[in-house]
Amino acid sequence: MISAIEALRRLREGNERFVADVRSHATDASRAHRGELADGQAPYAIILGCSDSRVPAEIVFDQGLGDLFVIRVAGNIVAPSQIGSVEFAAGKFGTRLVVVLGHSRCGAVEATLDALQRPSVPQPRHLYSIVDRVRPSVEALLATDLRHDPEALIRDAVRANVRVSASQLRHGSDLLEALIAREGLLVVGAEYSLESGVVEFFDGVPA
Ligand SMILES: [Zn+2]
Repeated sequence: MISAIEALRRLREGNERFVADVRSHATDASRAHRGELADGQAPYAIILGCSDSRVPAEIVFDQGLGDLFVIRVAGNIVAPSQIGSVEFAAGKFGTRLVVVLGHSRCGAVEATLDALQRPSVPQPRHLYSIVDRVRPSVEALLATDLRHDPEALIRDAVRANVRVSASQLRHGSDLLEALIAREGLLVVGAEYSLESGVVEFFDGVPA
């Protein structure tokens, strides 16, 4: 199995290709490759990303069929089913890298800030299942001067939300904790820039 560090290198290189508008045969989706994969998969990274239509993991990392095990949910939140999905992939396939991938101007984070700043405006009932998961990571920011600077507020809130999700994956599962302690599983946080296409890994990356 590919180590976490090697997996991180592949993702960084893939994102560099994406940013440079070069695609590689790593994105192979041919019939022959489909056939090879039909009997089994060995994804080398697990990505917990946002559902935003502009941030599909396979495309922004220039990867192909069978490379990435992707979980997408608005706001890249961590609820029990997300932890279960990560446990499944890490346990079954031996995948050693988990990336929480947030992105600039995330609508779920904006909706949460909005709900906190204007609590009287009703939101669709089930949206609260997202907002309530984002809320603890961004609430404290509203008590700082950032509340007067909407651009800076959303920027910091996106990163705070990624950090909290990554921490919840590191500490919210006995299986994942054991894999981190003994098998070299690495959980990192990253942010995709809608403007530049660059993914910056900013949390939990070994020096
Ligand atoms: Zn988003």
